Amino acid sequence: DFENLNNKAQKNLRTLLDIPDNYKILFMQGGGHTQFSAIVYNLLMVKRQQFDDIADEEKGEINPPLDYIVTGSWSAKAAEEAKKLYNNVNIALDVKKLKGSYGSIPPQEEWNLSGPNAAYVYYCDNETVNGVEFNRIPDIDPSIPLVCDMSSNILSRKVDISKFGVIYAGAQKNIGPAGVTVVIIREDLLTMPKPVTMGAPAIPSMLSYKVMADHNSLYNTPPMFAIYMSDLVFEWLLENGGVEAIEKINSIKSSRLYDCIKNSKIYKSPVEESVRSRMNVPFRIEPEGLEKEFLKGAEELGMLQLKGHRSVGGIRASIYNAMPLEGVDTLIKYMQEFERKHSSLQ
Ligand code: PMP
Repeated sequence: DFENLNNKAQKNLRTLLDIPDNYKILFMQGGGHTQFSAIVYNLLMVKRQQFDDIADEEKGEINPPLDYIVTGSWSAKAAEEAKKLYNNVNIALDVKKLKGSYGSIPPQEEWNLSGPNAAYVYYCDNETVNGVEFNRIPDIDPSIPLVCDMSSNILSRKVDISKFGVIYAGAQKNIGPAGVTVVIIREDLLTMPKPVTMGAPAIPSMLSYKVMADHNSLYNTPPMFAIYMSDLVFEWLLENGGVEAIEKINSIKSSRLYDCIKNSKIYKSPVEESVRSRMNVPFRIEPEGLEKEFLKGAEELGMLQLKGHRSVGGIRASIYNAMPLEGVDTLIKYMQEFERKHSSLQ
């Protein structure tokens, strides 16, 4: 029974995201954090395999760089994890270093990519904590695998999967309960976890995309309940017009909220307009002392989890696919009332 469910869930996700036939869908475990290292192991192995295929006399040094585009705290964490495993990580962009804080994405001409030698280019499509979302797919040399963390915006808009080598997403935002992590990978990037070659670590079986693909994600006991719930969400999306329909709703939800912030004197967005996330809307209240009162009042009205991530403070409204338009409207109404109540401060 579970095999049928496993296949059905994959089929539904393939339909929703229009995933081409030459891509495999894997259901893995260990959340986004585990992918931070799985990516390094697997894609370095691809590069090393290519190297093994070259004639000995043509072999030079191999130590391909891994390019990271750091636009917020999750891509920063992924890059840190890569550095623990490998000694040639190139931070092609670090927005915090460049600008003092996250909240913008400088144009690609300003990135310091390593070029065709890179084993991959990594980025996070939506930075959950900082509310920064790419408004287009980076334009990378197609011979280099583009790796993307879509944990917090997968299934929120249409995306051209064929532009990517690997996409991964922890389920717990737009897919289902925590416990399953979706990996979408181009088939030519599935390499056998060979024993140590040239000092490279072999891939632990549980982290190997090839092992997972060969076992249709049933290499060990799968998180069945999480996959079952995820499939219910896929069906819900399909019944309601698919990704195209939810994308429209997401756009209305986030524009209404950003308009409310724009038209206000006390709410401020820390993010540049062109890269504001449609999923996570962070904002500050001026004066700052009002934030506590704002959160308390919201909680009394049943609006929970509006506190910004502890690393950045402030307020953050996460408005994933499951949040209906009415929920956003209720928040906006509260924000406007709160501002009116405090208008004497202006
Ligand atoms: N990447 C992003 C974009 C995230 O939002 C998160 C979790 N909030 C992670 C990675 C880490 O995921 P996990 O907690 O599943 O390890």
